[in-house]
Amino acid sequence: MKKFLIIANWKLNGNFNFIDKNINLIKEKINNSLYFCNLSIAPPYVYLNYINNLLKKTSISLTAQNVDIHIKGSFTGEISIKMLKDVGVKYVIIGHSERRLFHNENNNFVSKKFFLIKKYGLIPILCLGETEEQKKNNQAEKIVIKQINDIIENNNIDILNKIIIAYEPVWAIGSGKNANIDEIQKIVLFIKNYLISLNTKIVENIYFIYGGSVNNSNIDIFFKKNIINGFLIGKASLEAEKFISLIKKTKKYLVN
Ligand code: PEP
Repeated sequence: MKKFLIIANWKLNGNFNFIDKNINLIKEKINNSLYFCNLSIAPPYVYLNYINNLLKKTSISLTAQNVDIHIKGSFTGEISIKMLKDVGVKYVIIGHSERRLFHNENNNFVSKKFFLIKKYGLIPILCLGETEEQKKNNQAEKIVIKQINDIIENNNIDILNKIIIAYEPVWAIGSGKNANIDEIQKIVLFIKNYLISLNTKIVENIYFIYGGSVNNSNIDIFFKKNIINGFLIGKASLEAEKFISLIKKTKKYLVN
C-alpha cells in the first residue's frame, strides 16, 4: 500500500518566528509518530535552506512551491531545479492554479518544468483541476486530461513514473468549499483509467492526492472511500496546533 502523503503548502506566508514555532511544534508533537505518513513542508523559497536544517534528523521532507524552466543564466528572480536540489528539496509543486491564474502559466510551460524536475531526480507534484465554470459545463474530465496530455506529448508516457498528481478543483482552493468524495472519485478514476489505457502499469507508481479546502471539520469525508493517497493542504497548514490535529485525525483512519 502507498504511504499516505501530506504536503503543507504555506504559499506566501510565514517568517522566522512562524517557522520556528510551527516546525518545533510539529517535531515535538508528531515527528515520532509519523510512521504512517510522509509529511512535507512547502515554505516560500527564501526559507527552504533554513527549514532544511531544522528538519535534519526528522522524517519530514521539503517541498518547493515552484521552479524555473532554466538551469542557470540571466533570468532575474528565478530559482533553478539544481538550486532546489542543493537545499534538500524532494518534491516540487507545478501547475498550481494560482500560478496558472496569476502568472499565466500554461500546460506547455508546466510540462517544461515537469521534464526538468524528473531529469534532476526530484518528484513533481502536478496540480490539475477544473474551474467552477468548467465544472458547470461538465468539462472537468476534458480539462484534466488535456493537462496530462500536454505533459505526455511534450515528453512521453514513461515520464509519469513515480510522480504525484494532485487533483485540485480550482473552485475548491482556498474557498472553504471542498469537493465531495464522489466528485473526487469520479475524476481520479477517470484519470487512472485514461492512463491505464495508455500504459497498463504506469498508475501503480503514481500517487493521487487531493487538495482544496481540506480542514479539521471535513477531513472525515475523504476517508469514506479508499481513493486518494494524500492531501495538499494550504490554509489549514498555517496554524500548527490545528494542522497537528488534522494529521492525528488522518492517522486514525490509516492505522487500525
Ligand atoms: C492549495 O493551495 O493547494 C490548497 C489546497 O489550498 P487550500 O487548502 O487553502 O484550499
